[in-house]
Amino acid sequence: MSQPQLITVLGATGSIGLSTLDVIARHPQRYQVFALSGYSRLAQLLALCLRHAPRFAVVPDENAAVTLREGLRTAGSSTEVLVGEQALCDVSEAGEVDAVMAAIVGAAGLRPTLAAVKAGKKVLLANKEALVMSGALFMQAVRTSGAVLLPIDSEHNAIFQCLPSHYGQGLASVGVRRILLTASGGPFRCTPLPELQQVTPDQACAHPNWSMGRKISVDSASMMNKGLELIEACWLFDARPEQVEVVVHPQSVIHSLVDYVDGSVLAQLGNPDMRTPIANALAWPERIDSGVAPLDLFAIARLDFEAPDEVRFPCLRLAREAAQAGQSAPALLNAANEVAVEAFLQGRLRYPQIASMIEAVLQQQPVVALDDLEAVFEADGKARELAGQWLARHGR
Ligand code: NAD
Ligand code: MG
Repeated sequence: MSQPQLITVLGATGSIGLSTLDVIARHPQRYQVFALSGYSRLAQLLALCLRHAPRFAVVPDENAAVTLREGLRTAGSSTEVLVGEQALCDVSEAGEVDAVMAAIVGAAGLRPTLAAVKAGKKVLLANKEALVMSGALFMQAVRTSGAVLLPIDSEHNAIFQCLPSHYGQGLASVGVRRILLTASGGPFRCTPLPELQQVTPDQACAHPNWSMGRKISVDSASMMNKGLELIEACWLFDARPEQVEVVVHPQSVIHSLVDYVDGSVLAQLGNPDMRTPIANALAWPERIDSGVAPLDLFAIARLDFEAPDEVRFPCLRLAREAAQAGQSAPALLNAANEVAVEAFLQGRLRYPQIASMIEAVLQQQPVVALDDLEAVFEADGKARELAGQWLARHGR
């Protein structure tokens, strides 16, 4: 048996991080944890360090480091605690590391994810916001370094599984007509429109099929998640926005489909459990047990499909427009959305105001080319500033 692969898990205390560690723990001969990062849930990070014995744990500041070091010392652990964004980059690009799970939520994950890409690692990409913000630069870095980029988002992992291995030469050259990106429609798919004024963060986070972090749960309710995924698909599979069609499929059993010119449509199905795409990407091109139960088609009985309603889900329209505008538009969209979702979760915005805030920011800020990472963060910062001003005027 060869040496176990060393894995860094960025965002280990989150929903994707925990699912990743669950899969890793099923295969101790194959995988060992090199580093784990956490942000606010320190007790959980300590427990994960004791369970997985990483060489490094990364926390955001010195106070957190003191607390974690004390817990580790008391338990007799030799895990070393590092601090800050540079440490996240260091544990992503370290020579010994074979693969990096990029599962920090939002723009905060961009620099460490790019560090893993630039170091030519196998990068398991959950942090879609990083790719949405910096798509052209990100994909250029993948090509330059030879990093192996594997999608963790269930839809993109499904598409990846339905494409031939040489799809990188362009969708047309492998006979692909369209990508069909499935969406559950979230908890508000059938809610009467006037009632959306009143919905609470907990209602928005109560996803019918998936258990996820709060930010992506709100994005799923607003369908901004599907909009970000449309942009993500364009970058990952070198597709134009018109080649990606969103299909609402409330059961979340078909995770996405690829439509070929001969009329064949390939789909990937499975129970809605992120351990399937995680195991697929970790072991690719092999297959390993993920702990996910076999799909019971008789229990599911039926699969439904409907077109998305962009009046009900204006965030999907805004994301499609940003995908078409290109350049800095997706970075502006993403940053405004991060501010809006945070404000909604804090009770400072009503749910329909998420889309209003994003639209206002996109209308105010001109779209520019993004030639380097500084330009990406400048666009991100500008959108956050405008969003903050909008919040001051319209929020509670
Ligand atoms: P989560 O909120 O459960 O976890 C987020 C993780 O990021 C935590 O470990 C947290 O400590 C860390 N983090 C938060 N802010 C940070 C900061 N400023 N600096 C450093 N670390 C920080 O989120 P999640 O549901 O696990 O999602 C993580 C990513 O994966 C998101 O980009 C999401 O869109 C994507 N994703 C998630 C799912 C899912 O099923 N949960 C599915 C597809 C894609
Ligand atoms: Mg998804």
